[in-house]
Amino acid sequence: MSSLSRRVADIPTSPTLAVSAKAKAMKAAGKPVIGFGAGEPDFPTPAHIVEAARAAALLPVNHKYGPAAGTPALKEAIAAATKSHTGLDVDPALVTVSNGGKHALYNVFMAIVDPGDEVIIPAPYWVSYPEQVKLAGGVPVAVSTGADTGFRATVAQLEAARTPRTKALVFVSPSNPTGAVYSPDEVAAVGRWAAEHGIWVIADEIYEHLVYGDATFSSLPVVAPEAAAKTIVVNGVAKTYAMTGWRVGWSIAPAEIAAGINRLQSQVTSNVSGVAQAAAIAALNGPMDAVHEMKVAFDRRRRLAVDGLNALRGVDCVEPDGAFYVFPSFEGVLGQSFHGRMIRTTLDLADALLDVAEVAVVPGEAFGAPGFVRLSYALGDEDLVTGIERIGTFLAG
Ligand code: PLP
Repeated sequence: MSSLSRRVADIPTSPTLAVSAKAKAMKAAGKPVIGFGAGEPDFPTPAHIVEAARAAALLPVNHKYGPAAGTPALKEAIAAATKSHTGLDVDPALVTVSNGGKHALYNVFMAIVDPGDEVIIPAPYWVSYPEQVKLAGGVPVAVSTGADTGFRATVAQLEAARTPRTKALVFVSPSNPTGAVYSPDEVAAVGRWAAEHGIWVIADEIYEHLVYGDATFSSLPVVAPEAAAKTIVVNGVAKTYAMTGWRVGWSIAPAEIAAGINRLQSQVTSNVSGVAQAAAIAALNGPMDAVHEMKVAFDRRRRLAVDGLNALRGVDCVEPDGAFYVFPSFEGVLGQSFHGRMIRTTLDLADALLDVAEVAVVPGEAFGAPGFVRLSYALGDEDLVTGIERIGTFLAG
């Protein structure tokens, strides 16, 4: 019998981290693996941000514990950047700085979910949402969306999933894993529905800057002000500023919830490293040129990825409007053998692609969407093209 608590025994490893760890290990062993697995920009953190961290490391104040919920300077910078980027008025006192957006989300679920409470999560979903809801004792309720609606949930679908136990909705646009971006009207309609039924919205805005073409980002509490009193915004510096390893994210919550999150964090982790917080201030207050350059590169790769994948027989890829993922269907190749490997599911496919083609992708099963595969296009253009060619060669064999 395991000595692990039931709570922890039931947690699977994050499949996205597992795929990138396996790919990194194969690379370290000299294999020329191309990794489409990791959800992180391939760019280095912009130099002015690293410089700010270097200076902060020399200051004794950053060698000591700081305020558990974040430094006043970073909370001010978050409030100002949120106002300027999304239009939301933010009181810095309602911001909690956490160890990445992932930690901020965990705090939020712990703060608002009681055992048995249901949390609606549109699928395909980011892997950690349902696990974190379960850790808080809640019940994740997936609402399936398909390529036919651009992977966007409609109010009618959300309404069909609502029960008297529905406590909250997780809303993420642009989305991981699909790159779907809801229009301002769609976001407003979701917000109105939540407000009408007194449902909390956890608005994950981590990809706010990564929208392409005609798509625009809209912040739910801005386009649906009636939902603002029960909306918690989560964001962070990881994706926008190529700062995944620095671990700085935050929540912005109504006063009672923010105070609860602060108490929770004060007992569990205390403050995020002062050096990382100083880097985040430089990111939020500094020039956006590097962010724009990265966005231009992502946009170019997005189109390369979509065209390359759609050229493969049996593969069908919707053009995403945001984030840095494509989410093609591989249903057309399932039930066949390639290179002596029977591919019944996209789990089989991801395994075989890594072993045979040395290409790392994340199977849709990880996101509640079997038949699909997630590829991150946050990798160099050449690798991207070679990787898709390798997939094509695999499927031709
Ligand atoms: N939310 C979404 C949708 C994500 O894709 C991620 C990272 O992959 C996060 C939150 C958390 O990001 P981080 O913890 O690196 O700030």
